Amino acid sequence: MRCRSCRDARGEIVLDLGEQPPWGHMPAAGTPLPDPVSPLRMWLCAACGLAQLETDADAFAEPLGVESREVAEQGDRAVEHLAGEGLVRPGRTVVEFDSPHGETWLSRLTGRGMEALRPDGRAAGRADLVVDLYGLLHEPDQDSALRRRVELLAPGGTLVLQLLTLGTVLRDGQWYDLRHGHYAYWSLPALDAALRRHGLGLHRARRYPMAGGTLVVTARAGAAPDDDTRRLVDEENELGVTDPVRLGRLQHSADGARDLRDWLEDERAAGRTVAGYGAASRAVPLVCRAGLRADLLAAVGDASPGKQGLRMPGTDVPIVAPADLAALRPDRVVLFLPGLAAEMRAALPEIEHAGGRWVVLDPAPRVLEPESSLATG
Ligand SMILES: [Zn+2]
Repeated sequence: MRCRSCRDARGEIVLDLGEQPPWGHMPAAGTPLPDPVSPLRMWLCAACGLAQLETDADAFAEPLGVESREVAEQGDRAVEHLAGEGLVRPGRTVVEFDSPHGETWLSRLTGRGMEALRPDGRAAGRADLVVDLYGLLHEPDQDSALRRRVELLAPGGTLVLQLLTLGTVLRDGQWYDLRHGHYAYWSLPALDAALRRHGLGLHRARRYPMAGGTLVVTARAGAAPDDDTRRLVDEENELGVTDPVRLGRLQHSADGARDLRDWLEDERAAGRTVAGYGAASRAVPLVCRAGLRADLLAAVGDASPGKQGLRMPGTDVPIVAPADLAALRPDRVVLFLPGLAAEMRAALPEIEHAGGRWVVLDPAPRVLEPESSLATG
């Protein structure tokens, strides 16, 4: 193993999720098991502090989601802030490395009069703004990927990176964000050092609420962090984002997935039917890590038609439409997406009407009592 960024060979595994299937590939329901699996481990470079994927596994094309309201609002806010800093102006040029997840800011930027250049090909030029929306983390070779982005900057140009920082992952115990095909888990201290190696200075990091804490980072030659950004870098250092011992807490959180399995076994012993909701990417390693099969988790409901009729990777749990989930009359429905309880209660009232209960992962399973009984105490 050599660091994907600084090429140093010193480092250690800080999170080991064992053998995991590719999270982006959901087979048709009924496709026989086993699915192909490969080791999923996070390695921390002792030299530059970049947490990264240890192995290159076959990465499947990730399913493109539609731009959710949260993602759209994030794009609007971030572009508004960049415009407020004078970085988005008519006549200026932009190159965007858009996201394999589907996010793009291009129409927002050209809508404000910027001229879009292509990131590759002969028509490519150097741009005043080089924007990367989760593109970087999909690159196995982080050093050459960052160099490519820096080389596209016109003199005085600004690099803009949107990323989920390792600080958020560590603070919230989001071990399930370790995924095949996501090669780099940047923290601000590691990114600051890498940018300097490429001749840029970290200028500003702004935190947004999306996914628990999304950062939009700007960097350019000769810049130094402003006071707020310095504070964010210090916060991440205090969290221990480059410290193998502190990052080891993610392993502890991951091992807690077994608690979900124990709880499901108790529910089954009590004669209750349990289903899940939200076939999101983060649910895949959770279901696999907990070793769940359809005898413990009857089905996972999901509103996106593209996922219905498929099954969760690595297990025989089918993905069904919300109406089919309700038709199972589950006694418990585990929410795999945080913050959705109110929305799901409103969208699927038949679950509680039939005596079922929603369950949130907190991270231990917690059964929600119906609103009406809360209101009456
Ligand atoms: Zn390194």
